[in-house]
Parts: sequence; C-alpha cells; structure tokens
Amino acid sequence: MSARQVLIPRLLHVGTGCLRDVGPLLADHDFDLRCVLVGSGRGASRMLAEAVVEGLRRADVRVVVVSQLAGRLDQAASIASTIIEEGVTAAVAVGGGRVLDTVKLAAARTDVDFVSVPTAVSNDGISSPVASLVGKDGARATHSARMPCGIVVDVAAIGSAPPATIRAGVGDLVSNLTACLDWRLADREGREQYDAYAAMIAESAARPALELDEVTSSASHEVLAQGLLLSGLAMAASGTSRPCSGAEHLISHALDARLGRGAALHGEQVALGTLVAAAAHNSALLPALQSLYLRLGLPLRPDDVGLTTAQLVDAVQAGPALRPDRWTILSDERFRHRMEAEALVAGAMGYRPVAVPSTRSITRSVAAPSSR
Ligand SMILES: [Zn+2]
Repeated sequence: MSARQVLIPRLLHVGTGCLRDVGPLLADHDFDLRCVLVGSGRGASRMLAEAVVEGLRRADVRVVVVSQLAGRLDQAASIASTIIEEGVTAAVAVGGGRVLDTVKLAAARTDVDFVSVPTAVSNDGISSPVASLVGKDGARATHSARMPCGIVVDVAAIGSAPPATIRAGVGDLVSNLTACLDWRLADREGREQYDAYAAMIAESAARPALELDEVTSSASHEVLAQGLLLSGLAMAASGTSRPCSGAEHLISHALDARLGRGAALHGEQVALGTLVAAAAHNSALLPALQSLYLRLGLPLRPDDVGLTTAQLVDAVQAGPALRPDRWTILSDERFRHRMEAEALVAGAMGYRPVAVPSTRSITRSVAAPSSR
C-alpha cells in the first residue's frame, strides 16, 4: 500500500495583532486575490474583520463583505451564491466557530480557497474539514467540507474573546483523549478501524492542555490554538472527526438536539461529556480532568452551565442513537438502563477535587522569551 497524502493548509500564521497582515500573507502564499469575500458575525468579530478588510483594500484587492453570520445553513447557501455571482476567488472567515463553519461550507461547495481567521478558540472547527450548521428544522448537523487553505491566528484577538469561549476550547481539546479511548475500544470490538497515526496527533495535541494552570495569558492561548490546530490535522489525516469525537461529543450533540438554542457552548458541553466518558472507561484521566477543570473554571457539574443532572443523563442515553456508526463506551447496552446511566453521571460528577497545581508549568515553558 502506498503512503497516504494529507492535505494541510499552505499558510499557517500565529501572531499578535496580525489581522491587517492577512492580505499580504495571502499574497505571499499565492492565493488568488482577484476578489476576496470576508465573512464575520455580529459585534466583536465584525470589528476585527474590518482590520482584515482594510489590509486587503490597502493592497488593492476587491473585497465583498458579509456580516451577521450565525452558523445557519441558509447563510452558507447565500454566501455560496454570492461567491458565484461576484466571482469570488478566496473566502476569509473572521470570527468564532459559527462564522468559520458558515463560510467554510460555502467555500467547499463552490471550490474556492477558504481561509480561517479565528477570533475565538472555543472549538476545533478553526482547522477542521467539517462544518456544523443549523438547518431549516432548527437542528444542528455536521456537514463535510474541506480543510482551510490558510489559517491566521491573532493571539491578541483570541485573548479579547469572552473567557468562557477560551475555557470551552480547552474542553473541546481535552476531549480528544476520551475520543481516542473510544476509538481503540471500537477497534478492539471490531466495529471501526483505529488509525494510530491520527490518534497520536490528536492525543499529543491535547496533552499539553492538561498542564494548564490558567487561561488568561497569551502563552496559554498559544497552547490552546496549537492544540486545536493539531486536532484539525488529526481529522485531516484520518479523513474523519473520529480522533477528536467520541462519546463526549455524542452527549453534546444529544444536548443540542434536545435544547436547541438553549444549549451551552459546544466545548462546555463536551467538557462535561468528557468527564462522563472518562468515568465510563474507568480511566485515570478522570481525576486529572477534574483537577484541570477546577483550576481553569470549566464545568464540573451540569448546573455549572445551566443544565440539570436529568438532562445530562438523558443525553448519555440518547447520544449513541444519534450516530449508530460511531462505536463508543456508551454503546454498551448497560447504559440503556436509566439507573446505570444515572450512576455513571453521579460517578463522573460526584467528586469535588482539591485544586492541585499542574506538575510542570506549560505556561512558563511556552512563555520563555526566545531572545534570552
Ligand atoms: Zn468538538
């Protein structure tokens, strides 16, 4: 068998205050800049997108601006038609996961280069080949798209995002660890084929996050951004979201389906699901995750994000049916019984750990200035 090919973005730039440089960066990396669409959301991301637009216009690039993107499928369709009508040659999304996913799908379907400029690192969609969007029926669904051709991360922009979005990003990142436990289980049970290479990337991406002591420094934001970027690479290598999505994601999807817009942030829900999955696996990850969550302020119990224990138990039971092809620890028949599911959630949530500092400070090691 020949070696596989993995498509990776041809531009990756992580810097501070680099939004105005997006235009020159794209020009340097041979993007077709005859007409560039810049999409953003509301409020903060719209302001940040203005810096990108200004940089492009200064380089004499024709720019089409779209704002108010909120992660809806009809918005992706509308952007696709704008791309066709205006002759757009590259599409840049500036914003959080909803904005990125909307433009990502439109660009994939119209076959133009997509550039991801995340202004929040609340999930691994910043570099993944999939888009999660809300359809006509109000339900959120995952659509296959393509890896971005370029990723520009402004650490300063990420730092100005609400702290909850940064914590949520940590939740989505550490979920790789339970996702890979599920993947190995699925392989042992003959349900799915394990991909050791993709899992190694996903787990290596997540482990540094377990050592974080805080999420306020730019060094911690870099750890997070790098982990989420590598998660995207793991998904690209395996051609599926599998290395970054197991039982914990099924729980989050079940909460989305049940609660609609009342759901918590994806990464917060996934963080809770990761505790449940680690408990179900009887993994030593559970106390390590609880300690991390306590240090960073991630949810340890459903009521920390406005959910009830019953809602979480419902999601544990409903999750596996949402994706029967994805074998996880929750596919085990015993969790069909309410009492088993309740006991599992109680075991995952019942323990209040003492905050212990991480064994080594990843923040310090990353923050060490290169000039020294
Ligand atoms: Zn996720």
